[in-house]
Amino acid sequence: MERYDLAVIGAGIFGLASAYHYVRRAGGKVVVLDALSGPGQGNTGRSVGGYRKGIFTSNLNRLLSESTVAFFEDLQRSGVDLGMHPIGYLILLDSEALESNSAAIEEFVRKGNARVMGADELGSMVPWMKLRFGDDEEAQLLGMRDVEAAVFSPSSGYLDVEKLVAHYYRDLLDKGVEFRFGTTVKRLRLSPVISIGHPREPLAWQAKRVGAIETDNGDVSAENVVVAAGAWVNQLLDPLGIDSHVKPKKRQVFSVEARGELAKFFDVDGFNGHRSMPMTFVPRGPYVAPRVRERALWLGYSDDVGRPWGIDFTPEESFYYDNIYPMVSKIFPVLKDVRPTSMWAGCYSINTIDENPIVFRSMNMVVATGGSGSGVMKCDAIGRAVTSLLLGEEEFVLYTGERVPVSWLGIRGRRAEPESFVF
Ligand SMILES: Cc1cc2nc3c(=O)[nH]c(=O)nc-3n(C[C@H](O)[C@H](O)[C@H](O)COP(=O)(O)OP(=O)(O)OC[C@H]3O[C@@H](n4cnc5c(N)ncnc54)[C@H](O)[C@@H]3O)c2cc1C
Repeated sequence: MERYDLAVIGAGIFGLASAYHYVRRAGGKVVVLDALSGPGQGNTGRSVGGYRKGIFTSNLNRLLSESTVAFFEDLQRSGVDLGMHPIGYLILLDSEALESNSAAIEEFVRKGNARVMGADELGSMVPWMKLRFGDDEEAQLLGMRDVEAAVFSPSSGYLDVEKLVAHYYRDLLDKGVEFRFGTTVKRLRLSPVISIGHPREPLAWQAKRVGAIETDNGDVSAENVVVAAGAWVNQLLDPLGIDSHVKPKKRQVFSVEARGELAKFFDVDGFNGHRSMPMTFVPRGPYVAPRVRERALWLGYSDDVGRPWGIDFTPEESFYYDNIYPMVSKIFPVLKDVRPTSMWAGCYSINTIDENPIVFRSMNMVVATGGSGSGVMKCDAIGRAVTSLLLGEEEFVLYTGERVPVSWLGIRGRRAEPESFVF
């Protein structure tokens, strides 16, 4: 059985960022195992790659994402093309959303991270957008009220996740990290730390460790193991009696080509240097994410109650027609009769208490999961937290220099306030 200093299970963005920081700090013989055929082919590859800067209320969200985005920005500035497009986030607000978020919005504006646009200003910048629904019965049925204002966050945007994955992958190969793709981990086999040669070891009273990683391509053994298996994490942890505190939930994205009238999304002055509409969020509804290079619009909607937990990668075309289309076509009438040209589904791994990632240590294993809908924009911070836990440190240092106790991301000592600015 081949022995490593570190085995990382999962070549998604959490596994890659973990290996990236570990090899930089500790070196050694590292292997990354993944069931799929290449890096970032799980939920990372299904991500929209949106990042939010300066518009989180939760301290932990702010620390994890802002430091990670600062890392992306510096990387991009240094010449690594991550396909970053700071086209901005435009969060539309009806009277209810405006009132319930007023304190948060005031704070974002005070810090200079966002500005509030009134409906008149928005209407004059984007005259083809509909903000008032008058006595439109269909809009009322959809629960849509007049848009009173919008929060515009100019430094938020999106990046090309494939490019970020490629950067990590190349770097890790250069550093001598081994990758084994098409390798499914079937079971983590426990061993006693000190064996007494009993046939049913490890016994309840014995200190334990992950002694072997059983895969469909033979066993692997490592001094330390990182489980970064995303939405599949429970398949590995449940048999060990360890709770990951996350559950998977399906999320879908529908892409439309921005032809004809839809070209208007890329002909708007005043938001960003690309003359593109920002990523736009409908109150309690779907979002529209313009893709500048692809000249496409990506549309999605994070449905909650009624959407079962579970792993499911089948996109439902009817979800677009029943849920996304009716709302977005009210706000953007140019979307009328527009059909998606492609669609895909992935799974968020959601920590059901605060929706922030979970990173904890058990035995010689560190678990990093719960990326939910913001794992990409937090990956650098998570890689640092994992590495600090592996090295026995109580704090990790963010890219931007702040020190954060690793326990804040764990189960005991967790300090992850739920986000209150949700859209
Ligand atoms: C539709 C969608 C849109 C999203 N949009 C955004 C966004 O705009 N911004 C943002 O920041 N985040 C977004 N996210 C969330 C983000 O993609 C995730 O939080 C992040 O990719 C999670 O990374 P991960 O490494 O934990 O999981 P994954 O990328 O899923 O990686 C886990 C890996 O583990 C492997 N694996 C699992 N079990 C085993 C096993 N037993 N043996 C071997 N390998 C195994 C899998 O093959 C997989 O490659 C989105 C997610 C989805 C689904």
